[in-house]
Amino acid sequence: FSEASNANRRAAMEKALRVGNNILKNGGSSLDAVEKVVRLLENDPQFNAGVGAVFNAVDRHELDASIMDGKTKACGAVASVSIVKNPITLARRVMTDTPHVLLAGAGAEKFARQSGVHLVQPDHFDTPATLKRWNQRKQKIKSLKDKVSVGKVSASESLKQLELFDEVTGSYLGTVGCVALDSHGNLAAATSTGGLSGKKFGRVGDSPIVGAGTYADNATCAVSCTGKGEQFIRHAIAHDVSARIKYAQQSVESAVEEILKETINQGEGGIIAITKDGEISMQFNTGGMARAAADSTGRFEVIWGNAPKTTATE
Ligand code: ASP
Repeated sequence: FSEASNANRRAAMEKALRVGNNILKNGGSSLDAVEKVVRLLENDPQFNAGVGAVFNAVDRHELDASIMDGKTKACGAVASVSIVKNPITLARRVMTDTPHVLLAGAGAEKFARQSGVHLVQPDHFDTPATLKRWNQRKQKIKSLKDKVSVGKVSASESLKQLELFDEVTGSYLGTVGCVALDSHGNLAAATSTGGLSGKKFGRVGDSPIVGAGTYADNATCAVSCTGKGEQFIRHAIAHDVSARIKYAQQSVESAVEEILKETINQGEGGIIAITKDGEISMQFNTGGMARAAADSTGRFEVIWGNAPKTTATE
């Protein structure tokens, strides 16, 4: 990203970190902290969640989100919603107001309407930046198709080139997640995303799948994942972090490190986690992952890319 864009994203993360930190500092719950932080990031067009959500293959936005309470193991999730301003808030309502865990598509939207959750028109998510990137991607696909049809590049080479294009333009970057431990000893996790750019209609990633993209258990840790979701679903990654701590007595840092080394393809994922003792792990096997952490000892840092940089101290 450009210098200016990096600075803006960093500022948005710092603001979100401050909001979460203040809730916890004032004795608030980890559930409130993770929901408020994720809501804030959903309302910021710079991230691939809420208003900044990417387009799917048929020029629509299908948003996914989930939230989990480590104390009770209650959880709620929504998948493929297109008119819900803050999917994370709807996920929390699924958790608190229904006997279910996951509502999808039209049913989730009907529930949102009944619950008085803020609805928007589908084009609310067509921000100038996502539209621009989407049109560029469509042009790229067209030119690759033309090249394939005249035998200039093979179909598999064109797929690789599209992946490279996505990487360079960052067209799918920006899923948001938050994990927290509050002063009552309760853990919570939340994740929200527009998913992968150009994903097939109806495709649901890991972010609304409890155990894959999100998990929280007061006995171990709270986890939120990002990356190519199919792998996180196949290997129940968020739960795997917790299971390694519980059954193999691994530290959170080594659990996350091993998963990113051995289970997730290189270049395809990142994980944030916090344990019941407040140990924080934020690792990735991609080129970078913007992340931020604060705690009651005064730690307060936003870290961009690979270079740790403390931006402020509370
Ligand atoms: N995990 C998300 C998904 O597969 C995307 C991401 O984190 O970038 O939908």
